[in-house]
Amino acid sequence: MSLSDGSQQRAPAMGHDRVSPLGQEPEHRTVSAMIHVEEVGDGIFAFIQRDGSWYLNNAGIIPERKLSYFVDSAATVNRTKVIIEEARRLGVGDRVGMIATHHHGDHTNGNATIDPTFIVAHASVPAEMAQGFAVPPPGLFNDVDWGEIVVRQPDVVFERELDLQIGERLVRVLHFGRPAHTLGDAVVYFPQDHVLFAGDLAFNGGTPFALMGSVQGWLDTLVALRALEVTVVVPGHGDPCGMDVFDGIERYLRFVLELAGNALREGVSPLEAAVNTDLGDFAQWHDSERIVGNLHRAMAELSGASPGSPINIQTAFVDMLKYNGGPLRCFA
Ligand SMILES: [Zn+2]
Repeated sequence: MSLSDGSQQRAPAMGHDRVSPLGQEPEHRTVSAMIHVEEVGDGIFAFIQRDGSWYLNNAGIIPERKLSYFVDSAATVNRTKVIIEEARRLGVGDRVGMIATHHHGDHTNGNATIDPTFIVAHASVPAEMAQGFAVPPPGLFNDVDWGEIVVRQPDVVFERELDLQIGERLVRVLHFGRPAHTLGDAVVYFPQDHVLFAGDLAFNGGTPFALMGSVQGWLDTLVALRALEVTVVVPGHGDPCGMDVFDGIERYLRFVLELAGNALREGVSPLEAAVNTDLGDFAQWHDSERIVGNLHRAMAELSGASPGSPINIQTAFVDMLKYNGGPLRCFA
């Protein structure tokens, strides 16, 4: 990823590029919450919500005559309804399956609204979802109309790999055996099409967030990700891009580890370390307050906590609020 111009990286768009009604909402949402659908492979559609900041996630729609698939849903009922509208327009019928890239509410809150026949996810996801953070506590983010969120758990879980047949096409759902962004990060790989839905293992234009996973685990996971033959990456947040999106993520995660090591040697807290740090190029990515959560995770790991082990998430978020000087910016 090139950080030099501060912009998101673009892959060549295929097919149409259509702005949906929610994308034309007034007020502060106009620029930041634009929704569009992009054909990223033959008959493989990415549902993109700009600018990809907190809770503005991407989803996937793969229409197929007998059984269509969604990759993830959205954070709010209203946004999920737009996914459903777009899916209908693309020819998706009543029989649908869903692949969940991980448990976070921006990717799963709309599951019950879509109401698929079944949901596939990594085996860690049910317990992660059961922790009950689907809708964040009041005061953490600025006001969001979430709608009536009903948590819908996965029906089928897998450990390392699950192969699906979608029409003529082989689709591999992969977990790389270690925590990274969360414990249960799955990617959806279309080997014949060289397309990868990376979930939140890829942020394009936003700050990676490892608080609920592992900084070192994410770095290790990048090695496995790079072994895949991929032309188009659909990140969990931000515009579709190429595999070089992982270069910026690697650079950032190494930066976090180095800061964490220094903070431990100097005996300063994650918040102090973050406040005293110049983020440099990384400040151009949105949601830069994630540095605080990332330091909480990295410092725990360097102090001997095993990757992905429970740490105090609440303390980390309170520190992120302090760093940010108020509720976190959310356009969902
Ligand atoms: Zn996430």
